[in-house]
Amino acid sequence: MCQIIDGAAVAKKIREEIKKDTQLLLKNKGIIPGLIVLLVGDNPASQIYVKHKVKACLEVGFNSQVIKLSADTSEEHVLQTINKLNLEPEIHGILVQLPLPEHIREEKVIAAISPKKDVDGFHPINMGKLLTGKPRFVACTPFGCLKLLEEYGIDMNGKHAVVVGRSNIVGKPIAALLLHKNATVTVCHSRTVNLAGITRQADILVAAIGKPKFITDEMIKPGAIVLDVGINRLATGKVVGDVDFAAACKIAGMITPVPRGVGPMTIAMLLTNTLKAVNYLYE
Ligand code: NDP
Repeated sequence: MCQIIDGAAVAKKIREEIKKDTQLLLKNKGIIPGLIVLLVGDNPASQIYVKHKVKACLEVGFNSQVIKLSADTSEEHVLQTINKLNLEPEIHGILVQLPLPEHIREEKVIAAISPKKDVDGFHPINMGKLLTGKPRFVACTPFGCLKLLEEYGIDMNGKHAVVVGRSNIVGKPIAALLLHKNATVTVCHSRTVNLAGITRQADILVAAIGKPKFITDEMIKPGAIVLDVGINRLATGKVVGDVDFAAACKIAGMITPVPRGVGPMTIAMLLTNTLKAVNYLYE
């Protein structure tokens, strides 16, 4: 019988803890965590994500605001805006919503964020810290995946973890996190030969591909733990993951659904990172 990993419930619990910690921070130190979200352009999906992030911040008692810049804003102006935010003592976290318009270089913008305010964990310094096993900010989605495994008491030690996807924001950081938990990690991608042969060996399978229902039951080892990071909107409007959930449930031991799996954990980890940022600022 396949157990459903309830990301929404775990995320709710984390948000409640953060709310309490935020009240204590205000009472004991007079500090309110502050997160600024920078949104460049008018990508509809980005607008929705940003709205959810700010709402979640306000609900736990943070200060949070969106700075909206038009799609034709110059790269220079975006960098200047970030430089100013880096110097603001009441802003503890800065998040630049991706993707950016094509004329703005993502690497340049990410590198401009102070590593101590980089609550998305995308800055090369924070990526490097993660790889060397001394993480400061870990990218929210991979961090959320790890928290789910921990929350469900899953021992990663010596397990074969297979990550399908090698993006900087999901695949690579989750592989690093699993490795630090002593899993034996295989990272697969679009050039992997005999993908199903590899995924079938996975005790822990992470799907971060961006293709609806790509992982089928034949690709899953009986009893495996499956984390589905994918968020794919079908033409019907329905949102599905990268795993064929109904088929996978018949063979997996545990699985995250989409929605209510990894997705809610991403925002919970953004809140966790922003609260952490308050301490880093006074390091
Ligand atoms: P990317 O497009 O950046 O990366 C996708 C990865 O999948 C690439 O490494 C690519 O390989 C690999 N891939 C593509 N096709 C295949 C294939 N046929 N076989 C094996 N590997 C393949 O996506 P992201 O990492 O940004 O996101 C992945 C998914 O997670 C998306 O659905 C996204 O919406 C979702 N997501 C969800 C979040 C959440 O909060 N739950 C947050 C962030 C993302 P290659 O490198 O060779 O091209």
